[in-house]
Amino acid sequence: MKLSEIRATLREIQVLPVKTLGQNFLHDQNLARWIVNQAELTADDYVVEIGPGLGALTKLMLEKGARVLAIEKDTRLANFLRERLGHPRLEVMNTDALKFDGRVLFSHRRVKLLGNLPYNVSSALLLKFLTYPSPISLWLCMLQNEMALRLSAMPSTHDYGFLTLRVQLQHCVQYLRTIPATVFFPKPDVDSALVRILPRDPFELPARDDELLAKLIRYGFSQRRKQLRKLLRVHVTNWHRAASTLGFDPKARAEELSLLQWIGLANYVAPPVYSETTAMKNELFPIVDKNDRILRYAQRSDVHGNNLRHRAVHILIFSQADEVYLQQRSRGKDRHPLKWDSSAAGHVGARESYDEAARRELKEELGVNVPLKGISKLPASERTDQEFIWLYGGEIRGNPTPNRSEIETGAFFPPAVVDGWVTTRPEDFAPGFLECWKVYRKNKPANCDTFT
Ligand code: SAM
Repeated sequence: MKLSEIRATLREIQVLPVKTLGQNFLHDQNLARWIVNQAELTADDYVVEIGPGLGALTKLMLEKGARVLAIEKDTRLANFLRERLGHPRLEVMNTDALKFDGRVLFSHRRVKLLGNLPYNVSSALLLKFLTYPSPISLWLCMLQNEMALRLSAMPSTHDYGFLTLRVQLQHCVQYLRTIPATVFFPKPDVDSALVRILPRDPFELPARDDELLAKLIRYGFSQRRKQLRKLLRVHVTNWHRAASTLGFDPKARAEELSLLQWIGLANYVAPPVYSETTAMKNELFPIVDKNDRILRYAQRSDVHGNNLRHRAVHILIFSQADEVYLQQRSRGKDRHPLKWDSSAAGHVGARESYDEAARRELKEELGVNVPLKGISKLPASERTDQEFIWLYGGEIRGNPTPNRSEIETGAFFPPAVVDGWVTTRPEDFAPGFLECWKVYRKNKPANCDTFT
């Protein structure tokens, strides 16, 4: 829209731009086209647009063939968009994007997020939609220039800080260009910038304890001008050895350490622990015949290396709101690292029944002890990695406490979202879970999610 059209439209729909909603509308059409081109949209893309306003970017995204979910807080603008842009590939949601349930995005194949974010809530919005793990494969955001500089900052610069590291830990941030205040109506007080954010390959950076890392970084930047050795004295024993091992000046301040050095420091304090120890690798499992009768016992490496038939349990835990808890397997697992899986799962041990194994796994992985019911038994096949699986279900109040050495992360999901997710991106899941979910859904129709 040209400036004159924006003024006329706002008059027509009786909207006076509201500062608290960051209502500054883009009126440079060439720039709008250039911005949308940076997202490289195709008809396969599902775009979440935050704050579409009068649709300056929305229209162009639809022209590229993408499906667009436009989330607009201002009811008058949401209604305007529905009426003027009404398009089969556009859904306008009149809500606060901060309240949007991002889990539903997991059921779309290629999700991109685009937005000229309202200034006053841009950092909250960004952090909400950058939460790891996420199905979003690209974020293209117009932000206040100052914030864009902080997100994309390099070590030893004024803008490098806690926010930089927090975002760059999971993402690569590219500062694309400055956008002058003059291209907006009304003209804001400061310039903006466009940033492109891409998720990092989860194996790119060394494994670490993210909570500890965040704690060290927060302390480190709590007094920017102070040397780290003073700020982190309590946490890091033998600071000089840490500095020489990690290759930084012992007198360094927080802003002088690169992301890799920060990770190194966290791992120097406490390396992450993964539970697949030598003892576990030598653990014995029953090897069974095609009727699940025990033939002999073998070690984990033998079982997996030679594709021997064995036994496993999967447990689906439901919240009182009938949402199912899925875990993302730890990056340290020898099988299917970082894949999504049942709430808890594991092998049946040498002297264990299926029921005993289910109770043990649930306690070990989620710290949960609730009554379980058998849902179904799955036959051993290639799709279950040659496991006979007993699938169980149970319900908990509150949240489980995932064992960090086994589980990267986890969350409750509405079963309908899981249905969409397993269909659009089956590669996100451990194969055994896909089989279990199929069986669970066959036994429980889609409109009856409660497990009891
Ligand atoms: N995309 C349009 C453009 O570039 O011309 C408008 C961008 S304007 C900077 C920000 C838009 O976000 C406004 O339409 C405003 O009403 C909307 N908005 C503000 N807060 C919001 C929120 N919490 N959730 C969703 N939309 C919001």
